Amino acid sequence: MQKTIAKAFTINGIGLHSGKEFQAVISPAPCNTGIQFKRDDVRHCDYTRITPYNVSSTQLATTIDCGGLPISTIEHFSAAFYGQGIDNAFISVSGTEVPILDGSAKEVIENIEKAGILAQKEKRKVLKVTRPVSIEYEGKTVEIEPCDNFEITFELDYPHPVIGRQVFTYVYDENTFHKEIGIARTFGFKREVEALWSMGLAKGGSLDNAIVIDDKEGVLNKEGLRFPNEFVRHKILDMFGDLALIGYRLQGKIKASKSGHHVNNVFARTLLEATNSYVIEEETESKVIKEQAASCQPYGSFSENIAVSAV
Ligand SMILES: [Zn+2]
Repeated sequence: MQKTIAKAFTINGIGLHSGKEFQAVISPAPCNTGIQFKRDDVRHCDYTRITPYNVSSTQLATTIDCGGLPISTIEHFSAAFYGQGIDNAFISVSGTEVPILDGSAKEVIENIEKAGILAQKEKRKVLKVTRPVSIEYEGKTVEIEPCDNFEITFELDYPHPVIGRQVFTYVYDENTFHKEIGIARTFGFKREVEALWSMGLAKGGSLDNAIVIDDKEGVLNKEGLRFPNEFVRHKILDMFGDLALIGYRLQGKIKASKSGHHVNNVFARTLLEATNSYVIEEETESKVIKEQAASCQPYGSFSENIAVSAV
């Protein structure tokens, strides 16, 4: 069945881009609402359901367009909802960003667990992949093939001794998501963070909300890593957050190499548009309902140099 949170909760913290304080109020929502965001610092801003098509920027984080207004860094929130099995929720944000918190989905997940989860009356819909779909973009790849579960194998390769090549497979399970994926933090290199600061970007970025790596000293965070392979686990968290925008529960086996928010978003659109490569079913196996698949839309500005293969 579809699920929402049992009661509203509030999350406060600074934004990654601006370094300013923001508040997000997360409230229960009726069946078939999906995950909807709005800005409450602007009058007459209605809730907008997030989809891969209202992603307006993927620089540093995933930014969505809510009635012409940006809300940035939504991906750890959307990952927390998908991961904890929340289908429907309203999120009202006090400005241009949701709080970055500790750079993972930990605090959002803990709040969901504290608020409780409410089963609703209507069944969930699952996008079940029936044929492979893949994309390739500047050496980054994402592919999905049929599978009985939803699982992601991610490979990253950074030419740095602290990270190097990491490959990790996570088979999605609502009961393990929090501890296995949800608490993995984002990461960056000190020299890159300093370059972003000099451009007026990532003003809120610090050791409080990211693993920061120095070329000589390695991980600068005193507490160290939460997992030896926290980096690849965070890339999987990001992928959950970006693919959650598809709006269905997912069934398929993903293999991704070096993908980030941009390629994740292109993949989400490509998958939705590959209408002969999946079926939409209700969650129970007894009755299969095929729906007309999502309407085709152009790739827009993301189309350049992307090889798409969907059969
Ligand atoms: Zn992230």
